[in-house]
Amino acid sequence: MIKTVDIKNMSFEECRGFFASLGEPAYRADQVFEWLHGKRTASYDEMTNLPVSLRRTLAEVAPLRPPEVLAVHSSPGGATKYLIGLADGNAVETVLMEHDYGLSLCVSSQVGCGMGCAFCASGLEGLVRNLTCGEMIDQILAVSNGIANESPNRRVSSVVMMGSGEPLANYDNVLKFVRLINWKRGYGIGYRHITISTCGIVPGIRRLAQEGLPVTLSVSLHAPDDHTRSALMKINQVYPVGQLIEACVDYANSTGRRVTYEYSLIGGVNDSRDHALRLARLLGGTLCHVNLIPLNPVPETGFARPSQEAVNVFACTLRSAGIETTIRREMGGDIDAACGQLRRRWAGRPGASDPSKRRDEGGRD
Ligand code: SF4
Repeated sequence: MIKTVDIKNMSFEECRGFFASLGEPAYRADQVFEWLHGKRTASYDEMTNLPVSLRRTLAEVAPLRPPEVLAVHSSPGGATKYLIGLADGNAVETVLMEHDYGLSLCVSSQVGCGMGCAFCASGLEGLVRNLTCGEMIDQILAVSNGIANESPNRRVSSVVMMGSGEPLANYDNVLKFVRLINWKRGYGIGYRHITISTCGIVPGIRRLAQEGLPVTLSVSLHAPDDHTRSALMKINQVYPVGQLIEACVDYANSTGRRVTYEYSLIGGVNDSRDHALRLARLLGGTLCHVNLIPLNPVPETGFARPSQEAVNVFACTLRSAGIETTIRREMGGDIDAACGQLRRRWAGRPGASDPSKRRDEGGRD
């Protein structure tokens, strides 16, 4: 049996090495990358600037598997969630969000998540596995194809790594993906329009700061003190708040990029004025932006949405302290947009983990 490779999983250097192993010149990698990532071509047959014999070889040794869209849910608020099937029977979510500045895609980096944050659907069943770079490419590919069918002039203009999974726990694949989608003749998404989120893996933040990429770092903070944060996020027991903020401040200083702190407001847990005052003291004077997210309740976690008054007071307290603060526009609570919810419902369906059965029940919901 021929050992096959996934060309969508390759960096430029890896692809050039692959063509060298076939006895082909390096420029073949550029040609194939332009077809794959620029024109989103699904078959080698269409790559007309490659010799026919090479196209046949590639179909054998590096077969192209188009992304499999299992479900698409849209909400009137401008979010569309895609459930993408993987070759091993797993599935991940990716969410397209329509903003006044363009289309933004929220990409998953892992199947499930091992970080076990108490309020999160993705963490409920733990980590299944890391996604490959090719599986992240398939998310943007599937959505870009969907957009092109509806309005050919529109494109994904920004990417946030905030779907299921902890991106910095899958560091190498995520960085390879980020570099690929930045490629000018492919998706062409500027680094400043790419956000990498983390629950607070301090060594990953420090490593990212050394990459020389002006990507936005987004940190899921959710509490201003170790007591509250450790109850919500296990990672805080390894990298407590003080260490985390120090790494974030260093990131901002070395990249010149403002760090975004995500703060899910959970009713009666972290949404008091006192929490807001402590947060203001923690972040005051740093290059930052706080994004408040009124919790999208996940039934299994038992946490409640905060009152509108608590949200307003929290935001006001931060702003009065000079901290730039936004309240996230709610998108897609009605389409299971809280991370991991659509996948969990899909996984409960009969035959969901069996790819052969899955194909019969696939298609748009
Ligand atoms: S919030 Fe993020 S890091 Fe925490 S469990 Fe969910 S996906 Fe993982």
